[in-house]
Amino acid sequence: ANSAASSRPAAARLTSGSIPATVAADLLVPLADGRVTDYANFDHGASAPCLESVRAAVEAALPSYASVHRGNGYASRITTQWYERARSEVHTFVGARSTDQVIFTRQTTDALNLLARAVPADATVIVFESEHHAALLPWPAERTVRLAAPTSQTAAVTAVADALRTAPEGPRLVVVTGASNVTGEIFPIAEIAAVAKAHGARVCLDAAQLAPHRPVNIEELDVDWVALSGHKLYAPYGAGALIGRADWLNGADPYLYGGGATAAVTPETTIWNEGPPRHEGGSPNVIGAIALAAACAAISKHREAIEQHERSLLARLRTGLAQISGVTTYSIFGAEADRVGTVCFTVEGVSSTVVSAALSAEYGIGVRDGKFCAHPLVGHLLAESPEHGTAVRASLGLGTSREHVDRLVTAVRTLATTGP
Ligand code: PLP
Repeated sequence: ANSAASSRPAAARLTSGSIPATVAADLLVPLADGRVTDYANFDHGASAPCLESVRAAVEAALPSYASVHRGNGYASRITTQWYERARSEVHTFVGARSTDQVIFTRQTTDALNLLARAVPADATVIVFESEHHAALLPWPAERTVRLAAPTSQTAAVTAVADALRTAPEGPRLVVVTGASNVTGEIFPIAEIAAVAKAHGARVCLDAAQLAPHRPVNIEELDVDWVALSGHKLYAPYGAGALIGRADWLNGADPYLYGGGATAAVTPETTIWNEGPPRHEGGSPNVIGAIALAAACAAISKHREAIEQHERSLLARLRTGLAQISGVTTYSIFGAEADRVGTVCFTVEGVSSTVVSAALSAEYGIGVRDGKFCAHPLVGHLLAESPEHGTAVRASLGLGTSREHVDRLVTAVRTLATTGP
């Protein structure tokens, strides 16, 4: 492992941007073939490449993992310790309360579907249409109130308050996204939570896009659940988490029926476990949990540097794009809203598919085009640009440099001026 690591180009070479070299060396894994400077990845919003500490944690665990909780052999006991330590790292990462539980899931989609199964039968769910489909769709249709995409932060809070005022009696759940996966804009989470609490409602925060870029603190935000994905947090695929209150979850049927979820089974009866094992049926993704926890630890350690780096590059990107005639950028709340490093735009006269294909083929830039699993929101944002059915999304992250941003701006300027 050491020789493989030392044959890689120095991680610091990745960053001609604003992230300090010492931080970069701790965080970034160069691409395996060494072409570290060729590719400008602006698709962190989809999945973020693995961190150095995540790679090291996985590499350390791979030779000796064994089944958790069930074996009494040395490897099994050690692996169980790793798994539970990972759980506690994720708990700390989101500032969870001592009574909150961490359930490992496959990703945010899985976490939100799990919570949807646990929502009491008489509950009303309130959700904005602007959510990612993972947060928009899992809730029972007949008990869900869908709010139109908000046009300002104040309007978002008011819409939730109005919906709660007219909601039927019984339990209520408000679902809110931390940062939009389309525009990067940060929702007024604490304000929405305060309104929800005033009406006796609970709050679930979809932190898939927020957690990699800004601190998420359950207790300070006063939300009840947080869902997140490892692969957006610079860890590989297959591990995410639902963190939060235990009562609805302990009252629900297990998410998956099987080993691990059970406390005792006789030919006649099944007694299900309570707590995280209830919803972690089957052999869990231990390596995924270790990777996710390693990412949480590294991101927490370097929070300030990460935020500074992303803010400065985002400002550069937004300023650059704003100066190009024919480029429209889209926003839910308006230009001044706080946001993570994601920009959604279209180029006049060039379809978004062609823009993204040209950026990739001609400039070595990876972006995404489409509706980003948020069809209602993209429809709403593009309502005034009927010639565009889809948009381009550029989402930056730790490996992004000033050169990447400048290359993207130059490329978009060329496409807007002369076409592909
Ligand atoms: N929520 C938001 C805001 C997202 O951006 C995404 C993924 O893009 C998801 C949920 C779903 O995440 P996953 O595909 O990891 O389940």
